Amino acid sequence: MNCLRCLKLKHIKYVRGYCIYCYNYLRKYNKINNIAKPIMPTSLTLNQEEVLSGLMLGDGCLSKRGKNGNAQLIVERSTKDQLYLDDNFNIFKEFCKSGIKIRIRGSRTHCNFKTRNSEAFNTYYNI
Ligand SMILES: [Zn+2]
Repeated sequence: MNCLRCLKLKHIKYVRGYCIYCYNYLRKYNKINNIAKPIMPTSLTLNQEEVLSGLMLGDGCLSKRGKNGNAQLIVERSTKDQLYLDDNFNIFKEFCKSGIKIRIRGSRTHCNFKTRNSEAFNTYYNI
């Protein structure tokens, strides 16, 4: 693939269509503001609320980076329950940037997903 900016074909890393040099340059001078993050809902649906309160009693947790940040939802389960995690993920995927990840800890494997930080979770974090 050719870089969108310098139009050169280089065998190095590409980010969002730019070679890494151009990408770093554009980032540095703040010229990449045309990359819109997908818009997240600002509140939860009734169904999401219900699932969230269930998760809070089990495999989910809300965490916050810093005092003034927004909360994010993290759900982790054993891989044998991955189908259940898939369900939860589908319910919250509009808040997620990446998909389900598998982690191996010793002889156990876990799968998890994290949402982006969102004001929609703050109310529940504060309970
Ligand atoms: Zn380039």
